[in-house]
Formats: sequence, C-alpha cells, structure tokens
Amino acid sequence: RAKQEGRQCYRFFTQEMQARSARNLQLVNALRHALDRSQLQVHYQPQISMRDGAIIGAEALLRWQHPELGMVSPAEFIPVAEGSGLILPIGEWVLRCAVQQAKAWVNEGFGPLIMAVNLSAVQFRHPDLPELVTRILDEEGLPPEYLELELTEGVAMHNPQSAIAVMNNLQERGVRMSIDDFGTGYSSLSYLKEFKVYKLKIDQSFVRDISTDPEDKVIVSAIINLAKSLGLKTIAEGVETEGQQAFLREQGCDEMQGYLFSKPVSAEQFDALLKQGFAA
Ligand code: C2E
Ligand code: MG
Ligand code: MG
Ligand code: MG
Repeated sequence: RAKQEGRQCYRFFTQEMQARSARNLQLVNALRHALDRSQLQVHYQPQISMRDGAIIGAEALLRWQHPELGMVSPAEFIPVAEGSGLILPIGEWVLRCAVQQAKAWVNEGFGPLIMAVNLSAVQFRHPDLPELVTRILDEEGLPPEYLELELTEGVAMHNPQSAIAVMNNLQERGVRMSIDDFGTGYSSLSYLKEFKVYKLKIDQSFVRDISTDPEDKVIVSAIINLAKSLGLKTIAEGVETEGQQAFLREQGCDEMQGYLFSKPVSAEQFDALLKQGFAA
C-alpha cells in the first residue's frame, strides 16, 4: 500500500510540476512581448522620514498588466524574467523610467528625493552594470547621488568578494546601495562591514507583528542598533499601523515605507502627493 501511495504521490507531484511549467512557459512567452506592447508600468512607493513625515524617497516597483492574464504579481514574474534572461532588457527599462522620473521631480523642485530601484541577481552579476548605470544617469541628466540600488542579502552573499568589487565600483560612480529584505538572508556580519551599503531595509516579515511579538521587537531593535553602530541608515518595510510606526520611531529607525502612508502608486499619483505638501 505504501508503494501505491508513493506512486499516487509521485503522479500528483508531476501533475503539479507540469501545471507549473505550463504556467511558466505561458508567462515567459507573454513576458517577451510585455515591453513592446506597453504592458509594463513602473509604480512608486513613498519612503518617509521618521523625523518629520516628509517624502524623502521613492521605490520603483514594476507592474505588469496583461490583457488575458490580468495583473501578474512581480513575485511571480520577476523569477520568470530572471530565469529567461528577460530581466536584462526589462531591468534596464525600469532603471531608465525611474531615473527619468526622478529627474522630472528634481526639475519640479521636489528634492532631495532618492529613487530606489531593485536589482536582480542577473543584473548585478552582469559585467556591464556599472557602465550602464552611469550611462543612463548621464543621458537623463540625474546626479548619481539621487539613485539608490537595492540588493538582497542573497545576491550580495552569493560571491561576496565579487559583490564587494561591484559595490565599490558603483559607489565610486556616486550611486548609493541598500540591502533589501534585510534579516531574511544570511549576511555575515563581517561582510556587512565591507559592503559599501548606505542603508538596511528591514524586512516586512519582522515589522508585521512588531506591536505584539516580543521576539520581533528584539530582532528589529537589534537590526537598528547594528546599523547605527556601522554608520548605516535604516528603513522599515511594510509599515501598516500607527503602533508599528511608534515602536520604530522610538527605536531610532530613520525611515519607513508601507501602506500606512501609501501603497505603490502611479507617477501621476505620486506627483500629486508631492504637490499636496508631503515633499521634503
Ligand atoms: P521588495 O523590493 O521587497 O518590495 C516591497 C514589496 O512590499 C512590494 O511588493 C510592495 O508593494 C510591498 N509593500 C509595500 N508596503 C507594504 C505594506 O505596508 N504591506 C504589505 N503587505 N506589502 C507592502 P511588490 O510590488 O509586489 O514587489 C514584490 C517584489 O518583487 C519586490 O520586493 C522585489 O523583490 C520584486 N520587484 C518588484 N519590482 C522589481 C523590479 O523592477 N526589478 C526587480 N529585480 N525586482 C522587482
Ligand atoms: Mg525593494
Ligand atoms: Mg523588501
Ligand atoms: Mg522582497
């Protein structure tokens, strides 16, 4: 009987795998045309200073609206884009959009406003990345200090020595870097000192229960203190309640990002927030 169950289990497993790879194939094929069919859009989520509540930055977040598949989540399509190499043209497009938008806001007199852009592992490991970043900044006329590139711990720790070299290169070009989803990966603290990062982004999984879970409180305050002692800034992700905000402020967290202030919104909606007086 165990054997039979085993076989059924196997059959179920392959069916699920088939369904997944069919979806995968469907997404890859659709994603190939997403750029030229104008299905991609960049949304922006405000980053807020804990000190005065002003918008001091924006995170660029990709959105994909497909005519049949509907809104596909980046959590689903970014891995597909990475696996197929499509992340390179798509990532370059996001970077250009975000830099153009940052330049437009600087021109309107809103500033300093830092534009944060997520980098995937494939982009980060591409030898042309530093030059590409500089070229886009030059072409769009944005000073490099207005751009921040977000990396996850996994990407940085995959090959720490080469990551340090790339980070040094980018930093010499004037671009800032931050560690995204901090606390969920396996950063060695000794490397953290060598990584040329400017800011740690505290992962939302620690922030979620911060008001009730004593362990999450301890973890978050430890991250903030660690960052302070290394001279790094902190931003908390996924801040949804006043209670979370109050705790983070009390612990000395510098910035926050989350639904409490705003979801990621279109450039027009973000512009409206700036004009409403939330600009720094
Ligand atoms: P991330 O970079 O950690 O981005 C934060 C995610 O948390 C975003 O999800 C954002 O919408 C969501 N979020 C923000 N505030 C709150 C909140 O208060 N509560 C909750 N529950 N969620 C909140 P999103 O936009 O679905 O993106 C998911 C992930 O996809 C991103 O995580 C990032 O890893 C990746 N991604 C998105 N855009 C890009 C891109 O242009 N390039 C690359 N390489 N990755 C991207
Ligand atoms: Mg991010
Ligand atoms: Mg994150
Ligand atoms: Mg994430």
